[in-house]
Amino acid sequence: MLRRKNKKTGSGASGSDVSELPKIDFKPPIADKQVEQGVLIACRSMPQWPATLTLLAQAIDNRAEQILLDYSKQAVAVRLRIDGLWEALPPMDRPTGDGVLVALKKLCDLNPADRRSKQQAVLPLKYKGVDWLMDFTSQGVPTGERVLLRLEPKKPVLTTLADLGMRKKMQDQLRDLLNASEHLFLFSAPPGHGLPTTWRVGLEAADRFVRDFHSVEDVHLREPELINITKHLYDSQAGETPMKVLKSLLLKQPDVLVFPDLVNEEVCQLMCGEVKEEGRTVITRLQAASAVEALLKLLARFKSCSKDLVKITSGVLNQRLLRRLCVECRKPFQPSPQLLQKLGIPPGRVQTLYQPTIAPPPEKRVDANGRPIEIEICGKCGGRGYYGRAAIFELLVINDEIRKAILNDPRPASVLAVARKNGFLTLQEEGILAVATGMTSLQELQRILTPPKKA
Ligand SMILES: [Zn+2]
Repeated sequence: MLRRKNKKTGSGASGSDVSELPKIDFKPPIADKQVEQGVLIACRSMPQWPATLTLLAQAIDNRAEQILLDYSKQAVAVRLRIDGLWEALPPMDRPTGDGVLVALKKLCDLNPADRRSKQQAVLPLKYKGVDWLMDFTSQGVPTGERVLLRLEPKKPVLTTLADLGMRKKMQDQLRDLLNASEHLFLFSAPPGHGLPTTWRVGLEAADRFVRDFHSVEDVHLREPELINITKHLYDSQAGETPMKVLKSLLLKQPDVLVFPDLVNEEVCQLMCGEVKEEGRTVITRLQAASAVEALLKLLARFKSCSKDLVKITSGVLNQRLLRRLCVECRKPFQPSPQLLQKLGIPPGRVQTLYQPTIAPPPEKRVDANGRPIEIEICGKCGGRGYYGRAAIFELLVINDEIRKAILNDPRPASVLAVARKNGFLTLQEEGILAVATGMTSLQELQRILTPPKKA
C-alpha cells in the first residue's frame, strides 16, 4: 500500500476519510455526458479509488513528470520520475494495483479487461486549481503489464528561451540565426533531454509574425499547436511522406518550412533546392549527443544531398537537461585554486561554488547504535538537493572555415577542433558556466555528461 502523504489532520480517529482524500476532477474523454457521469460514479465507489487519487496527487505534489507501474505476479512496483530520475515508492499489492488500473482505464475510456494489447489515451484532470493532461499507456509484457502515465500541465510552463536556462547572448544569437533567410537550422539533443520543449520554445522565439511559417508533420507524432505556424499533415502509417502536402504547400510561397523529420532523400533534396533557389528557411531536428554529431548525422542520413546540406546549414543547437540545485539548501564551498584551474575558470573569477544537501535514505537515518535519529529534511526539495531542471546548450554557428573542414575531413574530432578555433563552446564549457553561477553542481554536470551505459 502507498503511504498517504501529508496526513496532517489532528483528529485521526474520525471514521470517514473521504474528506482527507485529495480532490481531483477528472474529465474523461467520453462524449456522452450520461456515460461520463456513470463512469465517474462507478470509479468513486471502487474500494481502490482512494489509492488511485493518492497516487496521482502524490506524483503531482512531488513534481513527477511520469509514473511507472509494473505489474508482476506478486505485486505492483511503483516509480516516479522526478527531474529526470526514477524514484521507487513502496510497491502496491495486486488487488490494490489491479483496482487502480481498472479505475484509470475506465476514466480513459479504455478496456479494463484487456491486459495484453497496447492501450493509449489522454485524460484531462484538474488538481489544486491547475489543469493537467495525463497521457496513459498500458501494454502487456512477459512479466505482466506495464503502465506509463505522463503528467504535463495543460498550459506549458516553459515559454521563453530564458525559462529553459539559455543565457542572454546565446538567445540573441539563436534568434538571429532562426530569423535569417536562405538556410537550414538544426535542433538536436539525446533522447529524454527535452528536445520537444526546446523545439516548441525555439520556434516560438522566431519571427512568426513577420514571416510565413508552415510545418509538415506526421499526424501520428501529435506535435503541439503553435500560434502562427500552419500545420500540414501526412499519415506515415498509410505510407504517406511529406511529399503528399509539399507540392501544394510550395505554391503558397512559404518563407519558413518546419520539419520535425525530413523523412527521406527526396524531401531533403527538394528542400535543399528551395533554400538555394527560393531563399526559403528550413528548420528541422534530430537526436544526437552533440551539435557536431547532429550535423554529421544529418549529412550521413541524406548522403545524396550532403554537399548541399553543408552549404546551406547555418547552425546547430544541442542541449542536455540538468537538475537545478535547490536554492534553499545548497551548500556553498570555496573551490581550491587547483579545482578552478581544472575547470578552466580564471583565478579570482569565482569565490563560491555550491553542492547539494542530500538527505540519507530513511534506513540510514540512524546513529552508531542503530537508533533512529531526527534529520532535518529541506521542505522545498524533500531532501533531494535539487529542484527543477534547466538545459545547457551548445550553439554551433557554421561558417565557411567549418564548412571547408567538414568537406576535407568529416571526423567528429577534427570538425570539433575547427569549430572550437572559431569560438564554439562545448556543452562541457557551457556547463561549467552554469556551475560557476551556482545554478547546478559539479556532480550533476558530471552525471549528465557521462555517456549512458548501454543496457
Ligand atoms: Zn532543498
